[in-house]
Amino acid sequence: MRKLEETNCTICGLCCQHISKVSELKEFDLGNGTCKYYEHTTKQCKIYDSRPDICKVDVMYDKRYYKEFSPSEYAISNASICNSLQEFYRLDKSYRILINQTNFI
Ligand code: SF4
Ligand code: SF4
Repeated sequence: MRKLEETNCTICGLCCQHISKVSELKEFDLGNGTCKYYEHTTKQCKIYDSRPDICKVDVMYDKRYYKEFSPSEYAISNASICNSLQEFYRLDKSYRILINQTNFI
């Protein structure tokens, strides 16, 4: 099975703080859009190894998005969303994912 690299993530933590529109994570929402498993100090997931599939970029590609996107299109699309979120919240530019260095195999 094709595996998309997860190394594109710069661990900005924004996606885990904006889950209110993700139906699969409804039970995880603290009520302010932040996941109950998000660790603020490290910006990482407390249950990373057992996180649900919706949080796994590679699994979601193989389950749902392979019909719509090539691996490179999918990786670029994900990276673009991350960057847009970071720009909206004025996160330091050091977190931006460099689209032309987006990894996938
Ligand atoms: S928004 Fe993107 S870069 Fe930031 S933690 Fe989530 S996946 Fe990683
Ligand atoms: S389960 Fe983990 S990866 Fe998924 S939204 Fe919550 S903190 Fe983020």
